[in-house]
Amino acid sequence: MTTPATKMETYGNYINGEWRPAASGGTFENRSPANTDDLVGHFAASAAEDVAAAVTAAAEAADGWRRTSPIARANILFKAAEILASRTEQIGRELTREEGKTLKEGLGETGRAVQILRYYAGEAQQPAGENYPSASPYTLLYTAREPLGVVALITPWNFPIAIPTWKVAPALAFGNTVVFKPASYTPLCAVRLTEALADAGLPPGVLNLVTGSAGSVGDPLVQDDRVVGISFTGSNQVGAELRMLAAKRGAKLQLELGGKNPAIVLADADMEHALTHVVNGAMMSTGQKCTATSRAIVDRSVADRFTEMLSARISGLTVGDPLLAETQIGPLISEEAAERVAGEVGAAKDSGVTLVTGGSRLRENGTGKGHFVAPALFSGVTSDSRLGQEELFGPVLGVIAVDGMDEALAVANNVRFGLSASLFTRDLGKALAFAREIQAGIVHVNSETAGAEPQVPFGGMKGSSSYSREQGKAARDFFTQIKTVYLDPPPS
Ligand code: NAP
Repeated sequence: MTTPATKMETYGNYINGEWRPAASGGTFENRSPANTDDLVGHFAASAAEDVAAAVTAAAEAADGWRRTSPIARANILFKAAEILASRTEQIGRELTREEGKTLKEGLGETGRAVQILRYYAGEAQQPAGENYPSASPYTLLYTAREPLGVVALITPWNFPIAIPTWKVAPALAFGNTVVFKPASYTPLCAVRLTEALADAGLPPGVLNLVTGSAGSVGDPLVQDDRVVGISFTGSNQVGAELRMLAAKRGAKLQLELGGKNPAIVLADADMEHALTHVVNGAMMSTGQKCTATSRAIVDRSVADRFTEMLSARISGLTVGDPLLAETQIGPLISEEAAERVAGEVGAAKDSGVTLVTGGSRLRENGTGKGHFVAPALFSGVTSDSRLGQEELFGPVLGVIAVDGMDEALAVANNVRFGLSASLFTRDLGKALAFAREIQAGIVHVNSETAGAEPQVPFGGMKGSSSYSREQGKAARDFFTQIKTVYLDPPPS
């Protein structure tokens, strides 16, 4: 087995089939957000020369990998899936230690990465081009899908193995070579995914992992002209910068960005069912999902009752060490994030919005060395307020009361984002109207905003993406380009 460790608890980059330290020898620390005494490891603090070496390796491997049969590529992805599956217990725990979501979620996410690898192993073997009729009866006219070449994959910390896998697996399945820059809060999951693929027999240079900061690694990577495609998941702010940069140098770009996702609860909904799904959508993973529910848009006739139900459920959630089985909510990713979210809660309260429960920093019962905030619920939120408009990326839910379906839809759509949305109702007509009218890339009826399966397209409308989609067959559109071939017989 390849080992990424260059010394105890120090993890290197993976470049051209070798685990190696940053050229400078520098490292950075990764500590658990649940307990800053828990040192997860030291990781390579890379810079431009490490990025250049990784891009060179990817460029040199590109022709060989492009010419490797899709069946052979699929076999490697299948093998990596089985290797990852055999390590689920270990990686799930590591994910929880470095990201802070509960162990159940950490194990579940690792299982999802396995499923994604299997899916793209299958997808690599699907038909990839089309035959067309031609004006000439003798011409064989067809399209082929070809890889882009070297792609940069830049990922956030909140799904530290699932998101990297749903970019890396299709990129490789369709014949691209990769330079992968993971989030600096979660480099260990990136190391584990890379190890599984390396151990499965991926040739040198096909996948290169470079850890380090946005400025030292991200910047030189996206500016390298040899990188022809960039797939980025993260904040709208960084997404906006990448849009300009990619447009300037003509790189293909895919962005998956933030959300301000609504769950509409109509008066006829099953209240207990809606309650469970709204609370799970808002609070699981400490509200740090792009698809998290942050607005509960509730029919005024049931708003008070539903708010009371939400309050009882949310204030009863067990917050604490995510490795413990009884914990339902872990920490935020960083001290800065916890302070920011607690500050937003304070500011909303000061502006007159009713804080029903939660929102304060937690330092008791073993939470003193982590970045914990009590899950917060606001009522009386207005659509145009900061709570009604901005992604806080934490365990904060606001209830907006509305009069009926039309107002609910207008409020739901009154944001610059359009990632996911839910409706809770028993009325089929309203469900169909919602599916038609809601401005969101992922639509749920009677289930939470955060569910997403790997075999279907994933992505947002409006400010939540670049109108492209990840996962499922949609991933092929980003990671391939079309070649049209006119094949005529020589004159006889
Ligand atoms: P972020 O700060 O934008 O960072 C995302 C990644 O980009 C990290 O690897 C980061 O590196 C890197 N990066 C930052 N600036 C860069 C630059 N100028 N050039 C190149 N790379 C750069 O986002 P985050 O805080 O990790 O993630 C939270 C956000 O992601 C939320 O808005 C959330 O909604 C969104 N998200 C969206 C989806 C989706 O599918 N739509 C899924 C998950 C999360 P460092 O870590 O080293 O800073």
